[in-house]
Amino acid sequence: MISVVEAIRIVKEQTRPLPSDSVPLEVAVRRPLAEDITADSDLPPFNRAQMDGYAVRSEDVANVPVRLRIVGESVAGAGWHHELKPGEAVRIMTGAPVPVGADSVQQVELTSEFENGGRDAIPGNAGVSPALLANGSRYVEIQKPTSPGQFIVPRAAEITKGETVLRAGEPINAAMMAVLASFGYSTVKVGRRPRVAVLATGSELVPVDHQPAQDQIRDSNSFSIGAYAELAGAVVERLPLAGDDPELLKQVIADVAKRSDCLILSGGVSMGVYDFTKTALRELGAEIYFDRVALRPGKPTVFGRLKDTMVFGLPGNPVSVSVTFNLFARTAIRAMQGEVEPTLKKEFAVLARDAKGSVDRESYLPATLSTDEDGRLTVEPLKWGGSSDFVAFAHATALINLATGTRLIEAGAVVPIVRLPN
Ligand code: AMP
Ligand code: MG
Repeated sequence: MISVVEAIRIVKEQTRPLPSDSVPLEVAVRRPLAEDITADSDLPPFNRAQMDGYAVRSEDVANVPVRLRIVGESVAGAGWHHELKPGEAVRIMTGAPVPVGADSVQQVELTSEFENGGRDAIPGNAGVSPALLANGSRYVEIQKPTSPGQFIVPRAAEITKGETVLRAGEPINAAMMAVLASFGYSTVKVGRRPRVAVLATGSELVPVDHQPAQDQIRDSNSFSIGAYAELAGAVVERLPLAGDDPELLKQVIADVAKRSDCLILSGGVSMGVYDFTKTALRELGAEIYFDRVALRPGKPTVFGRLKDTMVFGLPGNPVSVSVTFNLFARTAIRAMQGEVEPTLKKEFAVLARDAKGSVDRESYLPATLSTDEDGRLTVEPLKWGGSSDFVAFAHATALINLATGTRLIEAGAVVPIVRLPN
């Protein structure tokens, strides 16, 4: 029996990233990047106005109110490409380029615009030489001084051309889609989605659309495994149920392994007379890396390889399936896509109720997360009936990790947790 840490290490060590895919940007979300992303331009690409208003020289507006002649307009998409001279202003919109010569923008609320000699002319004419007040020209009165740089985002303030902005191995989130689009990645290299086959074994199982007869139950594991695998980025093939028959099992496994990067079996991995998963794998020539982990729930977890196909044999109990899938199989599926951090992230929370660990195994206990009045993340162990209680487990949002040998841990203690994907 090996520790959970050791088992995860082996999974990572044995998993090779699949070759990458080049995909159109619109379908890239959630896929791990398979290339570093570099900026193909400065950001912003020009000195950009942050406000609607007037581009001015701060020294022209040191004493206010002051009138400046409006010599042009710079709008988003069409700048005013001349040099601003003393006594001049350019009407400017948010997102537009600031003209050369201007060093600041005054927001429109602190200005008023008028035509010389018109009804809205402001008496006083402070600061502007009479020569500038030619009839028919438009002027702006600036009512408050500006400081150099005001309301301007200088070129390259955010990103410099050539800079690496995202790294290979990071999963692409919705905000990163904007980064990729801004730098022209109409296609992007991402990890290939692994083909994951899911096979539930057990002679007691019937498909979801069947009424179980005496001694039978409906298969639920194929659906939870399939859903978790899809959340992890896999393309899932759910196979017809297999009974506890070693010869048939061998045939199905050998056949599906040829077209899958990863095969996830459930059931038949314990020590019972009818637990044939390991036997079938061994007789097919699979290499088994581990078959027992000091984990509660989920001790009889199997991990191996059949030629190029990674194989997981998860214990049949539905809760054990969820725990072992997310600790081990998910790690492999994420690592195959080239993700640098393929394991669930360890976090810490305050225990809301006492929890019991196990003497000889590390525990991953189903729990719900919430935040208390003091803003602390708290975790409450589920009241559940053990590894077959999948109805209670359906409300779990996290797993509490208790070290081997933890008999009782009291409410108020800080414990490591991992969040369950959803
Ligand atoms: P096993 O690992 O085959 O010993 O199964 C352990 C327990 O999980 C037994 O009660 C099985 O009936 C149950 N079980 C096995 N496979 C499934 C499945 N696909 N869906 C629901 N329960 C299952
Ligand atoms: Mg069984």
